[in-house]
Amino acid sequence: MNTEKKKLVVIALGGNAIKQAHEKGTAEEQFKNVEITCEQLVKMNAMGYKLIITHGNGPQAGNLLIQQEEGKNIVPPQPLDVVGAMTQGQIGYMFQNTLQNYFMQKGKDIPITAVITQVLVKEDDPDFKDPSKPVGPFYTEVEAKELEKAKGYIVKKVKPNSDKPWRRVVPSPEPYGIVESNCIKALVDARAIVIASGGGGIPVMKNNDGTLSGLEAVIDKDKAGNKLAQEVKADIFLVLTDVENAKINFGEQNEQALGNITVEEAEKYLQEGHFLAGSMGPKVTAAIRFVKAGGEKSIITSLANAADALNGKTGTIIVK
Ligand code: ADP
Ligand code: MG
Repeated sequence: MNTEKKKLVVIALGGNAIKQAHEKGTAEEQFKNVEITCEQLVKMNAMGYKLIITHGNGPQAGNLLIQQEEGKNIVPPQPLDVVGAMTQGQIGYMFQNTLQNYFMQKGKDIPITAVITQVLVKEDDPDFKDPSKPVGPFYTEVEAKELEKAKGYIVKKVKPNSDKPWRRVVPSPEPYGIVESNCIKALVDARAIVIASGGGGIPVMKNNDGTLSGLEAVIDKDKAGNKLAQEVKADIFLVLTDVENAKINFGEQNEQALGNITVEEAEKYLQEGHFLAGSMGPKVTAAIRFVKAGGEKSIITSLANAADALNGKTGTIIVK
């Protein structure tokens, strides 16, 4: 009998795992991408890993926010935390359905489930004072100012030289806890493949009486994914994006892909500004935090290279 403990991997899927940049975001397009992504997940399952999957929701939440806006005279628009929950359901369903169908056809009985996940943030997080994350549709200055007055939205000019350069911005606070992590862990221990903390999770704050209230904010999915990985005591944190490696001197002549590196090296490169804020920056930050908190290793690579990276053959691998 094989008594070796199966390793638990938390996989953070990038935007391209669900919707390609050039696509509109039809259900058919998204199911097709999810199917390609699931081929990789199935490979990892066959390699003997226990899996928790988390994912982004930027394009899906953006589209839903447009639907709230455009339909507001017919049905009441829903706030951002509710929209976040809706995207967790939407994307969770696509993965559940696709993985279930795959395993059913192979005659494998593996429970697959998505968990609506709330993530704790602090009300006094500095990002609440000066929100930086653009969400939803683009507006003209007149439209933006109207929304500012009517709804108290914070709006910023984010795309100069456009006829609709304004956008709503929301805070992007640091996650400090995953409300459902015990449930997620129990499901994994019961052999399930779990989809959780989608879109970085639904931001909630703890009130004085201990109750939780949803907030209109967006948490970085890689940072929330790392928190989840820590709380479920994952062995490996695997960040899958659209590039095979994190690079130093990114976009320069002397650009260099990073292979196996230590936390100290990663921190040095991060401080030197090699990883852009809002894209590779939070991935490397999350990867460093995971290893520092006692995780075995963090890996950053592309979706297509996931299995090879787990075998140590490619990707940026960060260890102690
Ligand atoms: P995801 O949807 O997977 O989170 P992002 O666009 O947020 O994707 O992050 C991946 C992108 O980060 C890459 O496509 C690349 O353009 C960008 N990037 C920024 N800095 C670096 C770097 N130092 N090395 C590699 N990619 C980088
Ligand atoms: Mg990203």
